[in-house]
Formats: sequence, C-alpha cells, structure tokens
Amino acid sequence: MSDISIRQTGPAGRITLMRPGALNALTYDMCLAIEAALDRWRDDGSIAHIVIDAEGERAFCAGGDIAELYARGIAGDFDYGRRFWADEYRMNAKIFSYPKPVISFLQGFTMGGGVGIGCHGSHRIVGESSRIAMPECGIGLIPDVGGTLMLALAPGRLGEYLGTTATRMTAADAILAGFADLMIDEAAWPGLIEALETGADTAILEAAAADPGAAPLEAHMAQIDRHFGGETVGDILTSLSHDDSDFARDTLKALSRNSPLSMACTVEVIHRLRGPSLSMAKALDLEYRFTSRALEHGDLMEGIRAAIIDKDRKPVWQHAGRSVPSAVISKMLMPVRDNPLKLEEETTMKKAKIGFIGLGNMGAPMAANLARAGHEVTGFDTAGTTAEGVRAAQTAAAVATDADVVICMLPNGAVLRHVADEVLPAMKKGALLLDCSTVDVEAARAVAAAAEDAGVQFADAPVSGGIGGASAGTLTFMAGGTEAAFRAATPLFDVMGQKAVHCGEAGAGQAAKICNNMILGATMIATCEAFALADKLGLDRARMFDVVSTSSGYSWSMNAYCPAPGIGPQSPADNGYTPGFASELMVKDLGLSQQAAEAVDADTPMGALALALYRQFVENEDGKGKDFSAMLPRFEARGRSS
Ligand code: NAD
Repeated sequence: MSDISIRQTGPAGRITLMRPGALNALTYDMCLAIEAALDRWRDDGSIAHIVIDAEGERAFCAGGDIAELYARGIAGDFDYGRRFWADEYRMNAKIFSYPKPVISFLQGFTMGGGVGIGCHGSHRIVGESSRIAMPECGIGLIPDVGGTLMLALAPGRLGEYLGTTATRMTAADAILAGFADLMIDEAAWPGLIEALETGADTAILEAAAADPGAAPLEAHMAQIDRHFGGETVGDILTSLSHDDSDFARDTLKALSRNSPLSMACTVEVIHRLRGPSLSMAKALDLEYRFTSRALEHGDLMEGIRAAIIDKDRKPVWQHAGRSVPSAVISKMLMPVRDNPLKLEEETTMKKAKIGFIGLGNMGAPMAANLARAGHEVTGFDTAGTTAEGVRAAQTAAAVATDADVVICMLPNGAVLRHVADEVLPAMKKGALLLDCSTVDVEAARAVAAAAEDAGVQFADAPVSGGIGGASAGTLTFMAGGTEAAFRAATPLFDVMGQKAVHCGEAGAGQAAKICNNMILGATMIATCEAFALADKLGLDRARMFDVVSTSSGYSWSMNAYCPAPGIGPQSPADNGYTPGFASELMVKDLGLSQQAAEAVDADTPMGALALALYRQFVENEDGKGKDFSAMLPRFEARGRSS
C-alpha cells in the first residue's frame, strides 16, 4: 500500500505514514495495516521496538479520513463509520498496551486520529514544529482514539479546556498535558531513527532530550481551572462570560465555533472517566458510545459538510451553547447494545448469572441494563414487579441459587437483613452479594459479617443519580467492602453507572452516601430559602442564578438541580416538582445520617435541622410525593413567624 510503509529495519519494526499531500490523514486501510504489523511483531524476537514516523514537514498525521465517512453517511451507510471507529480504537488500544517500546516522532500537526497513533506509545517525541490538538468538537465529534484518557489525566481542568476549545498545543504544552514525553531538536531525528534501526536502545532518546521551555498554556492554568471547573458546558460558558479578560474572550470565541452537543458530551465523558476506574478501555468505550451515534444522531454530518464539503465554515448545530438537554447527552452516551466495542484485552466480566432482588423504581431499570449488556438476570420482588429482559422467580432464595452475583435494591436496612438471611444460605461459596440500597451503616456491616460466615463476598454500594441515572446507566456507586469484592463488582458498576468509588471497608459506601445526602439536604434548603429571600428583596431569580452559580454559593442544588422553575438546566421544578427525588426519601436519608451521628457521637446540627424541616414538610405540609426541591414554594409561602 503506497499510503503507508511497513517494514523491519534491523531490530526496529518501522511504520512510516506516506500521505504528506493529505497531511498523512489516516485511512481505514492504514489502520488495519498498522494493527496487523503490531500483531505480527508482538512476539517476534527479532523486533526490539517499534518506530513510527511520517513523511513531509507539515504533519505527522492531521486526523482521520472524514470525507469517506461523509460519502457513506450521505448514502445512509452509518455502519461504515462504526466499523472504522471500532477497528481504529482496537488498534489504538494495542499501541497503548504494547509490550515493547513504541516510539513516535511527531512533527507539525498531530491531530485526532494522529493522536491515536502518535500519542499512546512509550516514547512520544515532539520538536519545534509540533502542534498537537483534539479538534473533534469542531466537526461534531468528541475527542476520541483514546484522547479522552489523556484529557482526563491532564492537570487541573486542562482536559476540559483542550477537549472543548481544540487549542493547538506546542511541544512544551503537549508535555505539560501528557500528550508527549520528550522534546528533541528535529534536526537530530534522522540520526536517532537510524541509531534505533541499527541496534541502539531507547536510552539515546532521553539523552538527546532538551528542556522544552515554559509551556504557553501554563500561564493560563489558573484561569482554565477557574472557568472549566463547572459540571457542564453551560457552567463553563457562564463563568467565562463574567470575565472580560482577553483569555476569556478568545476562549468564548473558540467555543462558539464548536458543536454544543459535542462539547457537552466531551465534558461529560472526561468527568465520568476521572477517578479510580479510569482506563484506556473505559475511555474508548465511552468515546465509541458517542462516535457510533454521531453520524446518525449527532452533528457530525453537518460538521463535515461545513468544514470540507461546502467549505462554508457555517455549520448549523442541533443545539445552542448552553441548552443541550441532559437527556440528549445521556442518550448519546448510553451503552451500545448492538455490536458494542470489543477490544482484544477482555475488559468486561464474562456473562454472569445475576439474581436481582427489589425491582422497584431504581432496581427495575438497573436490572434491565444488566440484561441488555448480555448477563443472565433473574429477578424477584414481593410486589411481583418485573423488568425488561429479566426472568421472574418466585422467591429470593430461588434467584440466589447458582447466581454469581446477587444484587439488592431494597427500601431499608431491616428488609435487607431479612433478605440476606434468606439468600446467603442459598448462594454459592465465593459468589458476590452486592447491596445497592441506601441503608443504615450498621445493617451493611451486619450483612457483611453474615456473608463472611457464609463464605460469600459482600459489598455495600449505594448509588446517587436517581431514577434517571438508573435508566441511563449513569449512576455513581460509593462502595464499601474488600478490594476483591470491589474488583468483582466493577464490571457491573460499569454497566449500571458512570463512576464507582471504593470508599473503604464494609459500611463505608453507606457512610459516604449518608454524608453526601446530609450535605444535599442542607444545601437544598439553604438554596430554597435564599431564593425566597431574594424574591422578597425584589431580586430577579435569573440574575440571582447567574451570580450564585458562578460565585461561592455554587452547589449542585443550585447549578444542576435548580429549585426555581424555568431557571438553570431542566429539573423537577420545571415539572411541577414531580420527583425526581421524593422528599420522603430525603427524610429517610437524613434520618440515617442522624442515626449514624448518634451512634458515633458526632455533632451534626445542620443535618438535624434539615431532617426536622423535611419531616415537617412531609408529615404536616403536604410535601409527601413532591420532589425535595419543592422546599422553595414552601418557603415562598411563609413569613418569619409562620
Ligand atoms: P422502590 O420502593 O421503588 O423499590 C423497592 C422495591 O423493593 C419495591 O418494588 C418493593 O416491592 C421491593 N421489596 C420490598 N421488600 C422486599 C423483599 N423482602 N423482597 C423483595 N423485594 C422487596 O424504591 P426505589 O426508589 O427503587 O429505591 C430503592 C433503594 O434505592 C432505596 O434504598 C432508596 O433509598 C435508594 N435510592 C433511591 C433513589 C431514588 O431516586 N429513587 C436514589 C438513590 C437511592
């Protein structure tokens, strides 16, 4: 193939990209050829390292061949793109985990697909002309080819900044952001490559490296961290629009060019990736969820049209900057059911036999997601409820017999203890009992001890994210239990959620959950009473939101779940306070925090007051069945003495 040269020169497996006229843009065939060479050389004892370079001065590789994607998309063939990305990502993952050194020389532009080849090896060499970027949001994609892994690992909020603005990094910037390792004078590259082809090892690269100098981005790190720390692109835009510095203006201009849907999903993917379960496999999987839908449902066709077909550079995006509904983001990032991404390394649990007990508002969609992911799920609920794809059983013990994992999603600790008494004797030794309900810490610890006696692994893993998160598979799990139990549960967390944090021993997950919800109860009340006060002071609610959402009164209650109808992102307030998260559930969780505080003699006056107010709201003020943000109309209707 004339677009790429693959050969062995001495101990070096050599790959040279040879489309300089097209800035070495990556074609499907080039991807497949690189993967085949990597597979061949992996166990070939005569190959010591892989050296990748590219012809021409202008670019190592400026991206993928998007013209072909467009041509296929216009003809209604969206599968071509899906196949291309799946094969490309598998190749990217192989470079990332290759057992031999992979050395890349990145002159000029390295962008998009070029990052997937050039920036995952062990020695990523940059020089004076290097300009590295992830510009995908400009054409309606998201940073992919494993780029989100590096964006999630970049210092501070640099990842969100680079991923949404498509800023071009210099050599020093790329080293700062983790896209490159060594700065070497480009005049020295041919000599180094020749030495690698004739027996030298990678130590010569370190010896030739120069000081990259100050990274231009370093000067903006404080502003980047300040403005890009929000939860959503809306937060980022709001923050930037309150700053009249040149940096903020330039950044807003860059963001205004890019697809709002792509930027929103980029920020969401980076946030989901940060944390202990960060891995290349997870990054590629999340990217694939978006890219596999991008031609058909995203802005990609329009982005390519405007960029390289009509070249009018005036794409008409589906959404405006601040108003990408969170449901649309979730939909683009749902697990892919048909033909999910398969990397060679096995990253997901083998199909497991799962017993699911408690198929209520939360449990039913969680169980359905597990069944959809290919697990064999049997369910039981005393109310006789079922879930899509889940086989119904008649008793809790029946779902536990033979199960690899039993998951509970039950109303409280007393029910959990009762169910555990029934299922533990029926479970196989070494199987996992995973309780995702919110229960008291003592119940979690008691069930953990009973499980240990029965030779069963146990983890408490309560969730946050509500019914929406349960359906979309975007829950956050906070887990307690042994390291082994957490590891065993991780592939299931990946199906049901976006993030799992191992908080410590059994009970630590419940402790994290009740502490979180104690803060949530108190901040929601504080947010609601502040809105009611603002009303009486004649302060416009929208202005109040604009100020507080980017000032020190910022919180999840204000920014992501604003209790004032019509203000901020969509929330239950916009739907007549239909839950959402019902006030009586908040009473339950605040009660658990006070029960725990009493048990360990912790002073929690704010939590106690929040419980008293929510209890009064539910029991005496018609709050039952209303979302917990309905505290706002409650305060609105009251004065200081009522
Ligand atoms: P739910 O009441 O809708 O579901 C609980 C289910 O458990 C019901 O269907 C009930 O019939 C079943 N059940 C009760 N006793 C049982 C038994 N002995 N055997 C089998 N099934 C039994 O409640 P939910 O909203 O799904 O919440 C479940 C858990 O998740 C609770 O602990 C809750 O605090 C927690 N949680 C809920 C939310 C939310 O937004 N709803 C958010 C986070 C956490």
